[in-house]
Amino acid sequence: MRRLPVYFLIDVSESMVGDQMPYVEEGLASIIKDLRSDPYALETAWVSIIVFAGKTKRIVPLTELTSFYPPRIPIGGGTSLGEALEFLMHDIDTNVVKSTPDTKGDWKPIIFLFTDGAPTDNPTPAVTKWINQYKKKASIVAIALGDNTDTAVLGQLTNDVLLVKNLAPESYKSFFKWVTASIKTTSMSVSESNIDGPQLAKLDDAYLTKVEPPATPSSKVIDNNFAVFLSKCQATKKPYLIKYKRNITPSNIEGLSLETQFFKLQGSFPVDDTYFQLSDNTPTNQKISSGELVGFPHCPCCGNQYGFSTCACGGIMCTGDEEVSTCPWCNTQAKFGFSSGHHDINRSRG
Ligand SMILES: [Zn+2]
Ligand SMILES: [Zn+2]
Repeated sequence: MRRLPVYFLIDVSESMVGDQMPYVEEGLASIIKDLRSDPYALETAWVSIIVFAGKTKRIVPLTELTSFYPPRIPIGGGTSLGEALEFLMHDIDTNVVKSTPDTKGDWKPIIFLFTDGAPTDNPTPAVTKWINQYKKKASIVAIALGDNTDTAVLGQLTNDVLLVKNLAPESYKSFFKWVTASIKTTSMSVSESNIDGPQLAKLDDAYLTKVEPPATPSSKVIDNNFAVFLSKCQATKKPYLIKYKRNITPSNIEGLSLETQFFKLQGSFPVDDTYFQLSDNTPTNQKISSGELVGFPHCPCCGNQYGFSTCACGGIMCTGDEEVSTCPWCNTQAKFGFSSGHHDINRSRG
C-alpha cells in the first residue's frame, strides 16, 4: 500500500498564544474527523504533526487516520524555521518509504507549513538544502497566518504561498476546510490516476489568497506586532505569557504626520513546562519601556491581582497583597512597591 504522507509543520511561537492556538487545535481535529469519512483519504493519507518555536518537536509521527488522535499544541519562544526544516528533512529521510527499482515507495509527501511571523534563526542553509535536495520529491504548501509573516522566505520553499487574510474564526474554519479538501483531492488523484504531487482545492478568495512573495526577506528578529513577556506565578511557580498587541495611532501635529506606537494588553495565558523545551533560550536583549504598555494583567495561574511585577533580577512574576514576596526566578525575598517612573522590561522573542 502506497501511503500519502501529510505533514503539518506548525509555528507555535508566542504570538500564537491566546485566541489563535485554540482555532488551530480545533481546525486539526476537524480535518482528521472529516478525512476519516473519505474513502480515498482513509486508505492513503498518513498524518504527522511537527511543531516549532525556538526548537522543534514532533508531537505525532506519521500515523494512519484511524489511529490518529488530535493532540494539544504547545507554545514556545522564537521561530527557528531553519531548524524546523532540518528536522522535517530528516523525518522525511527516515520515515517516508522510497521507491526502488522493484517496489513503489510512498507518494510524494505534502507539507502544510503554518507560520505567522519571521524566522528568528538564519534559515538560509536549510532553505538551500530544501531547494537542492527536497523540493522535487516533496511539496510544501506555505500558509501565512496574517500579514506580519515573512513571505519572502516561504516563496523560496514553494510556489504555493497562501495568506489567511484575517484571523477571525470564520477565516480559520474556511481555511481548514480548504486544507481538508486539498488532502481529499490529492488522495483521490494518487489512488485513481496515479498522479503524484499535490492537487490543491479551489481557493475561497474571501478568506484565503495566493500571494506573490517579495524577493528579499525582512530582517527583523522579533515579531513586532506583539510584545510578549514571560512571567512566573509566585504561588505555583508555573510560567505564563503576557501578550500585548501593537497599535499605531496616526496623529497630525502642525502639518507633520506622526505615528504613535503603543501596545495594548490582550491577556495573560498559562503555558506548561514544554514552553522551556521549545524555546530558544538565548537572550534577545530587546527591551520595551513600560510607558508603551497599556493595561496590566492579573496572574492567570493563582489570580493574584498584579501579574506583571518585575524583580531586581529581571524576572517577571505575580504579586498580591502579601507583605513579602518571593521571586520564583531567583528566590530572593523582597517587598514590592509601585514605582511611577517608566522602566525597561525584557521582551521574549515572539
Ligand atoms: Zn500567580
Ligand atoms: Zn528575581
